[in-house]
Amino acid sequence: MTDLEIARAAKLRPLNEVAEKIGIPAVAVEPYGRFKAKLDLTAAPSGEKRGKLILVTAISPTLAGEGKSTTSVGLADAMNLIGRKTILCLREPSLGPCFGMKGGATGGGYAQVVPMEDINLHFTGDFHAITSAHNLLAAMVDNHIYWGNALGIDVRRVVWRRVMDMNDRALRGIVQSLGGATNGYPRESGFDITVASEVMAILCLANDLQDLEQRLSRIVVAYTRDKKPVTAGDLKADGAMAVLLKDAIRPNLVQTIENNPVLIHGGPFGNIAHGCNSVIATRTALSQADYVVTEAGFGADLGAEKFFDIKCRQSGLSPDAAVLVATVRALKLNGGIDKNDLNIADVDAVRRGSVNLVRHIENLRQFGVPVVVAINHFSGDDDAEVDVIRDVSRAHGSEAYVCRHWAEGGQGAVDLAQAVADLSDKQSAQFTTLYDDDLPLFEKINTIATRIYRAEEAVADPSIHQQLKQWEAAGLGHLPICIAKTQYSFSTDPNLKGAPTGHVVNVREVRLAAGAGFIVALCGEIMTMPGLPRHAAAEHIRLTEEGVIEGLS
Ligand code: ADP
Repeated sequence: MTDLEIARAAKLRPLNEVAEKIGIPAVAVEPYGRFKAKLDLTAAPSGEKRGKLILVTAISPTLAGEGKSTTSVGLADAMNLIGRKTILCLREPSLGPCFGMKGGATGGGYAQVVPMEDINLHFTGDFHAITSAHNLLAAMVDNHIYWGNALGIDVRRVVWRRVMDMNDRALRGIVQSLGGATNGYPRESGFDITVASEVMAILCLANDLQDLEQRLSRIVVAYTRDKKPVTAGDLKADGAMAVLLKDAIRPNLVQTIENNPVLIHGGPFGNIAHGCNSVIATRTALSQADYVVTEAGFGADLGAEKFFDIKCRQSGLSPDAAVLVATVRALKLNGGIDKNDLNIADVDAVRRGSVNLVRHIENLRQFGVPVVVAINHFSGDDDAEVDVIRDVSRAHGSEAYVCRHWAEGGQGAVDLAQAVADLSDKQSAQFTTLYDDDLPLFEKINTIATRIYRAEEAVADPSIHQQLKQWEAAGLGHLPICIAKTQYSFSTDPNLKGAPTGHVVNVREVRLAAGAGFIVALCGEIMTMPGLPRHAAAEHIRLTEEGVIEGLS
């Protein structure tokens, strides 16, 4: 059966029942249709953190896929199966890529979140609200300039672009305001995909509506001729933007195909943003469940580092355990074999590739978080290959568990669930961020480059050093760093697999995300508006005569 067929065959429970399983009262569940709901936090019992926080992350991604979301779902189902009240927190998928190449992000096989078509497409409208709030601000910038430009915005230095939730390379760079004096001042600009919007990152890091509004007001939209920042607050846009986001800020409740609760909320990009679901959803889940499983984007060098150094630092959340997802196939690719040879058993390739796994285990430990390895089992995996992963993990102080949740649902990941529950109950985590707030900004970049990517050093042009110094002088030196680099390698070269050393991290550009509260360091080419492939998935997506969606994966 395809993922979509399995998802459709699932027997969904009314969401009130799903919520009540973990103590969320029915009054807090505000239905959006039959199987989607928003949580009304004012009606839910609030309280101190109760649950244990478990982060699911992965080895460096490859074309073979690691199955982070699938494993997060399988683990949460398995934890509930063994009697541990667990809520899963995931990111909302972006609509645009569903029509390109990448499928959605609701897991796969018998470890899925439903209703998958809704979640992958418009869901409860959060991304549309974010798009609207972002573009309202863009419209207000141009409108301000049009009506006299009292703030003295330098039209050449407007940094706030527009966004849309679609893969559309034609909009990456545009000339806007053409057509004469009534349409404003022509200038170069462009579109990013909605998940790259700073408004998305803000929504995911805000503690509440008030914090959201304050963060929105801090967004820098442009600079004046003497390079003074102009903010959304200066334009008085923050209030109206918050109004557009008042429902989007509430977490969405759905269920796994085994009827366990899932909060899916927010989905910032994993490169120029921090790549994890909202603080509000994670906190809500922690206040209700005994265990909360959550996921961070890409490999642990990017996703987990940002989860710890940005999300946990800003929110005060403290993880109890990390699950590192690995697959035989991905380790083989890291071991240098050709993707066409993936189905041939090759113990040596797994052993060679496991240097990547080892480095991620070591890195996670630097944050004081205990690590368990989840071997996401594919049907062609050879026992001897699996044993290599187990042995290597153990030699580096982590137990590895084979999980068959994709084929068997929660039952297939019970060993992992037991190990994760035991590990987090031991409370052995001594969480610490990688660097202190008061370290100079470039030193923070260098710390991530040398300690996580194991580069020789980070380098940047004098103009970048100067910019960082200016931000420090403006009182922004305490902000954490969000590195945007390729997810396929510890280095900035996507072709350097395994565990490279001796490389140099070249910082090409730095950007201030004052509302989100981090500084982005761009290393290598980073795309903020994806394009569609030659043959887009959209060519095969259609409605049947019965009105059922076909072709969405
Ligand atoms: P990630 O979160 O790492 O991007 P996903 O969990 O979304 O990966 O999985 C990517 C794809 O791989 C999905 O289509 C999923 O069905 C498939 N997949 C995941 N695990 C397995 C497995 N064990 N066997 C076969 N296919 C799998």
